[in-house]
Amino acid sequence: MANRRDFLGVVLGAASASAMATAMRANAQAKAPELEESDPVATALGYKKDGTKVDKAKFPKYAAGQACTNCQLYQGKPTDASAPCPTFAMKIVQGKGWCNAWVKRA
Ligand code: SF4
Repeated sequence: MANRRDFLGVVLGAASASAMATAMRANAQAKAPELEESDPVATALGYKKDGTKVDKAKFPKYAAGQACTNCQLYQGKPTDASAPCPTFAMKIVQGKGWCNAWVKRA
C-alpha cells in the first residue's frame, strides 16, 4: 500500500511540476513586452515586424526568405507567430520579422 501511495505521489508531483513549468513559460512570455520598431536597438539593427519591409539599402545582408522563424536566436518553434529574442532582452518579436543579427537556424 505504501508503495502505491509513493508511486502516486511521484506521478502527481511530476505532473504538477510539469504544469508549473508550462505556466511559468506562458507567464514569462505574457509579461515580456513586444519589441517595437521604434526601440533604439531595433532601429539600429533594422528590425521590422514584417521582414519584407527591411530597408535593403541600409541592410544589404537581408535576403528574401529570411525571417525570425528561421533565425537561430528565435526562442520559439518555427511555427510560432511570435517569440522572445535574446538580441532584444527577450522582448517578443514577430515570426515574420527580421533584424541584422539574423543567423540561419541550424
Ligand atoms: Fe529575429 Fe533573429 Fe533578429 Fe531576433 S536576432 S529579431 S529572431 S532576426
